[in-house]
Amino acid sequence: MWVAGHRGMVGSAVVRRLEAGERCSVLTVSRRDVDLTHQEATERWIKQQRPDVVVLAAAKVGGILANSQYPADFIGQNLAIALNVIRASHAVGVRKLLFLGSTCIYPKFASQPLNEDALLTGPLEPTNEWYAVAKIAGIKLCQAYRLQHGNDFISAQPTNLYGPNDNYDLNSSHVMAALIAKIARAKQDSLDTVTVWGTGEPRREFLHVDDLADAVVFLIKNYSDETSINIGVGDDISIRQLAALIAEIVGWQGRFAFDTSKPDGTPRKLVDVSRLHSLGWKARISLPDGIRQTYRAYQEQMRSR
Ligand code: GDP
Repeated sequence: MWVAGHRGMVGSAVVRRLEAGERCSVLTVSRRDVDLTHQEATERWIKQQRPDVVVLAAAKVGGILANSQYPADFIGQNLAIALNVIRASHAVGVRKLLFLGSTCIYPKFASQPLNEDALLTGPLEPTNEWYAVAKIAGIKLCQAYRLQHGNDFISAQPTNLYGPNDNYDLNSSHVMAALIAKIARAKQDSLDTVTVWGTGEPRREFLHVDDLADAVVFLIKNYSDETSINIGVGDDISIRQLAALIAEIVGWQGRFAFDTSKPDGTPRKLVDVSRLHSLGWKARISLPDGIRQTYRAYQEQMRSR
């Protein structure tokens, strides 16, 4: 099985999950050796390796600020990766492919919880529409290859993810990593204020990446449908509450300042997980446990730099 994007937070979790619990050989390739935005290199590599199953977790990712600063990178690189890998996988007869989307594919004002049927029913959230359009194209590619060629290519959109190997660079990170890093720093340096972007009112759902990896393996074994399926926990929390929970776990007692010059993004992003639950899969890692584990991983990651 080829895990594309194995150095990222998602890909590395999928590799850990496969190595711990599945009897299959795991193929990986570094970006230095094969740039997946490069069509020829990607095709050559897939033809050489002929994987049986592909998990497409490679992507250009980033938080709310990075997305609005680098729109061409986000749409271009993600379109290229999806097209190159999916087309080449069809060409060599890959038996199963799972493409990972994102819940930002849903319209900004779709009713919550976000059901799979809401896809393409309204305008996207502008702060991440570049990334979202590329991810929608990836989902559509899987559907199109299924319809036209009968390929068993599936796709799934995880809700906001967190866990080991996250990106802690404050300019490009997502909120969980950003707040863990900021609050850990505040504790270390005895600072009394941490700045949170936006109003703190938006709500987000958070899935631990080890749960996601487990869901990916489950779907490869148990799901074969053109509908791109949601992966989440079915529960959300406001950014203000999240900041307070992280502060409690880290053991920092300061105050939060809300920088409303930064965007809030979409007001809420809770996914409807009834489809996934009906197949028999549920997330297991609670938010406090997941944050505790991620904070420990963060401390190790910082020590080993
Ligand atoms: P989104 O889920 O695509 O909007 O991406 P993010 O994870 O980057 O942001 C989620 C929410 O957290 C937004 O409302 C941000 O404004 C808010 N937020 C608060 N503090 C931070 C921070 O330090 N970094 C980031 N990336 N988001 C923050």
